[in-house]
Amino acid sequence: MMRNTGTMNRRDFLGACSLGFALGVLSRGGAAAPKTKERPNIILFLVDDMGWQDTSVAFWTEETLFNRHYRTPNMERLAHMGVRFTHAYAHAVCSPTRTSIMTGWNPARHRVTNWTLNPDQDTSRGWGPRNWKKEGLQADEVTLAQLLQVAGYFTIHCGKAHWGARGTGGEDPCRLGFDVNIAGHAAGAPGSYQGLDNFGNAEGDEHTLPWGVPGLDHYHGEDIDLSDALTQEAIAALDKAAASGKPFYLYMSHYAVHTPIQPHNRFIENYRGQQYPDTEIEIPPVEAQYASMVEGMDASLGAVLAKVEALGEAESTLVIFTSDNGGLSAHARGTTPYGTGLNTHNRPLRAGKGSAYEGGTRVPFIAAWAQPARDNRLQAELPVEAGSVSVQPFISEDLFPTVLGIGGALDSVPATHPLDGQDMRRCLIGVEADLERPLYFHYPHTWGPPGPGYEPHSAMRVGDWKIIYFYIPQRWELYNIAEDIGETHDLAEEETQRLARMASKLRDDLVEMGAQWPVDNETGEESPMRLPELES
Ligand code: CA
Repeated sequence: MMRNTGTMNRRDFLGACSLGFALGVLSRGGAAAPKTKERPNIILFLVDDMGWQDTSVAFWTEETLFNRHYRTPNMERLAHMGVRFTHAYAHAVCSPTRTSIMTGWNPARHRVTNWTLNPDQDTSRGWGPRNWKKEGLQADEVTLAQLLQVAGYFTIHCGKAHWGARGTGGEDPCRLGFDVNIAGHAAGAPGSYQGLDNFGNAEGDEHTLPWGVPGLDHYHGEDIDLSDALTQEAIAALDKAAASGKPFYLYMSHYAVHTPIQPHNRFIENYRGQQYPDTEIEIPPVEAQYASMVEGMDASLGAVLAKVEALGEAESTLVIFTSDNGGLSAHARGTTPYGTGLNTHNRPLRAGKGSAYEGGTRVPFIAAWAQPARDNRLQAELPVEAGSVSVQPFISEDLFPTVLGIGGALDSVPATHPLDGQDMRRCLIGVEADLERPLYFHYPHTWGPPGPGYEPHSAMRVGDWKIIYFYIPQRWELYNIAEDIGETHDLAEEETQRLARMASKLRDDLVEMGAQWPVDNETGEESPMRLPELES
């Protein structure tokens, strides 16, 4: 393992997989940890790169052709049992969102502003800040998992980690507060979803860097999909959690539906060689494969829910379902049900993963008790209304205080750790507390292929309005998202006062959070945000 052999500090000690479990009876100040049933179990079911409409559950005012194409019956069931958030957001790419969930911080503050792999590797393709946190989240930092572990939770990491870079302590989820790590490491994608391909590991090689999925050697050579293997391992870990007598936190973090897009063999025939529903457009092979991956992920949700029920824990388990960024659309995708091509896989949202536009950041979000029961004491504390819909804006860093609140551990956040996210428990139970709260996006990097909104940018949504600043070429854009969800009509020149007001707020608040500006890769100079010039 990567643990230092020298003196361990307290956090290292508690973070070690083998020791954390044994020591979980201790919490801060030496008080007894909560006994089982005193706090709910929590499942955070996080899908990778899943778009806002990559599901048969509608997260808009109407069902779309995409909703009719995808099959996610278990998400439908979850939505029927709980609350759907139709204005939920993540950040534009993987590591920033995942770090925000673990720290409660906006990327402007935690500075893991781009995806990570090696500690000294700038993954920006062009512009990026000089000293962004390329090493990713590290083991000496305050994390959601660690605070839950200290509060007496049995903490399980299953699937994609993508926090600390390779060779650093933060690459091991056991160093970040998890009692169990299944298949998580530095990389943000699997070499392969196929057990027959050893999930991207070479024959006889335990772990092929950088993309081979670690820790699943016993499935190598088997005809099994990675999503199914992870599900089986998560179910086995839930047995361990039950035996521990503690409440559990399961961070079920699928590698799916990130590239490589490959068929999930149990579901591919639902799509292969068929037409998109209500169209005469043939589903291209890559989209059939993608839909099979979505359905495979959904089957995992069903299996996890069934396991919780079999353990008799369904009434005591709160499930949160979401994605870590918008749906991929800039490359590797095929013709949509609208007959369109790249950058339309989230239509009516504009663009996709990596973009400043809504397609880059808008995500599905459901919260539900795994079995609604009005008379259950834990549910009485958080009575999530079955089948409800919330328009409360929500963003990844809200998960940190919200999950800690559910786990009764919010008071344990150190005073030295100011939060950007908000405790949204009141919104889970139907109180749309603050529709005008600002949401901040800060992606000062060039992501990948050129396309709509993929330049380095910062953005802010407040109520119906969204402002975007692009660092190259420098420009401001302003949209009324309520009236123009596709961001087709830039109002920057019509609403100059609003633009000026929002631009100042965005810049001031980014500076307060410690935002780093991108560097012009031709001149080597920093390119700070420049406020719009008002004609007097
Ligand atoms: Ca992702």
